[in-house]
Amino acid sequence: MKPLVSLVKYTGSPHSLKDTLTLCGGFDRLDAHAKVLIKPNLVTWDDQYTIAPFGVFTTTRLIEDLIILLKDCGCNDISVGEGSVEFIKGVGTMAAYAGLGYPQLVKKYGITLIDFNASDSVTIKTSNALTLHLAQEVAESDFLINVPVLKTHAQTKVSLGLKNLKGCLKTSSKKLCHHVGLGLENCFTFVADYAKPALTIVDGIYALERGALHFGNAFRKDIIVASRNILAADMVAAKTIGFNPEDIPHFVAYGARHNKSLTLNDYEIRGEALENHVQPLKWDWGWTKDNTGPSVFEKFGVTGTAVPKYDETLCSGCSPFANMINILVLSAFKGEPLPNVEVLNGKKMQARPGYENTILIGNCIIAANRENENIRKAINVTGCPPGHDDVIAALRETGINIHEGTYWTYLKQQAEKYDNQEAYSWDFYK
Ligand code: SF4
Repeated sequence: MKPLVSLVKYTGSPHSLKDTLTLCGGFDRLDAHAKVLIKPNLVTWDDQYTIAPFGVFTTTRLIEDLIILLKDCGCNDISVGEGSVEFIKGVGTMAAYAGLGYPQLVKKYGITLIDFNASDSVTIKTSNALTLHLAQEVAESDFLINVPVLKTHAQTKVSLGLKNLKGCLKTSSKKLCHHVGLGLENCFTFVADYAKPALTIVDGIYALERGALHFGNAFRKDIIVASRNILAADMVAAKTIGFNPEDIPHFVAYGARHNKSLTLNDYEIRGEALENHVQPLKWDWGWTKDNTGPSVFEKFGVTGTAVPKYDETLCSGCSPFANMINILVLSAFKGEPLPNVEVLNGKKMQARPGYENTILIGNCIIAANRENENIRKAINVTGCPPGHDDVIAALRETGINIHEGTYWTYLKQQAEKYDNQEAYSWDFYK
């Protein structure tokens, strides 16, 4: 028998999710006494500039639907677990739960909220010699339900079930997955081998182009994809946003390790016809041909300062700086060439010749360029990750006349860009 995947139109709660799970046999192996753990995608939180949630976070509505259906099956030991990235120190998983209405779910249904960042962990050793630390609750759950969002990702093209499980790792292990030699997409697929999700439900009420944060554009898509087979759910979900399974390196890595087919015909899709729901989305921004920055630099004629595209070794700790620096460089541009500076991040980029100053963001890239003879003057922004103010100071030190307020204005615009549009309702996140 072919592995089952269901694809259903979201028309209301909780019946759409119920139909999705019935079609793929999602609860067939669920024991009412099971310790159930739900893993949504609540990637990070910002208490100053609200992250527009559409396509970024799993909808709270779908999580509530899932809890209702689990309760109908007699389950009483239900937890939700996540390990959100703290872009702002102290603003992490619990802040995300609070901002997205989870405390009400606790009151209404008696569920437990878990912050994986504060959990104990178990150590796993992968076959490619990685040592990773997995939140203990994940290892000890009887029935893990993985509920990612239907979104693209600027490093991995898509961020679905396999990628969402990276959030079950401790922070140090998340950083390690952005490994120079082993490759991000080889590393994080191992989490699924140890977490063993019983069910994957891809929340496609919204889909996100140029994710994984709200700087991309969200679309109302109104679908749910589910399967007991994580790869099958990911393959069908990816296809609905225009990606073929063989073009996603982490699908290839996971499929090869588990001897699983990447051919959609080898899976039985129940519910909607897949071809009726395919809407290709872009995953990346444009970049200049000589890799000196985003294509918007070329459009406005920015020269002098180069900010090459981040690579897969850039982990979430340093990733907010990539976007921030691009905006700040643009804020300094007044039609004249900017100071001769190259800004590097991640763990493996190498400084190119011809720049007066090289700004190195974070301990990893400082170490990677220690012997680099192309560097005339290195400006090291130390930290793992470094502090925001130190990044600003480094840009100023090179003579780039940035306007910090431009970045805050940009964040405010991003927070408000869906306001008063009917298709984008915060009711899904309460
Ligand atoms: S320095 Fe930056 S890229 Fe390196 S591990 Fe720390 S946060 Fe990640």
